[in-house]
Amino acid sequence: MGKRKKSSRGPQAKKKEVLPTTFTCLFCNHENAVSVKLDKKAGVGQLDCRICGQKFQCAVNYLSAAVDVYGEWVDAADAVAKEDAAANDGYTGTARQRRPRLAGGDDEDADGYDGDGIVGDDDEI
Ligand SMILES: [Zn+2]
Repeated sequence: MGKRKKSSRGPQAKKKEVLPTTFTCLFCNHENAVSVKLDKKAGVGQLDCRICGQKFQCAVNYLSAAVDVYGEWVDAADAVAKEDAAANDGYTGTARQRRPRLAGGDDEDADGYDGDGIVGDDDEI
């Protein structure tokens, strides 16, 4: 008939694990410099780096965690990197403009022959 102690000590008592809300910055590479905030009522997750000031926002739902916002940021940064690569391809395209000019030079030579060829064209028409 002894009193039962309410305190149930044990490792499982502390079950409230705090999910990580700080991450390494993609831009300045400082650990735990990026802090994520979740506004689930507004459905908006945002993060910012306290070192370099990078900011990011994305939509979240009630299942989203800070790490999800961080993941979205990683994907977005990756997409930007790919856009830069595409821009570099554009410069390669500029170099390609020389090829049509060479083709045009060939046409000029062909024009010389066309002087005789015009007669043939008239036959076709
Ligand atoms: Zn940073």
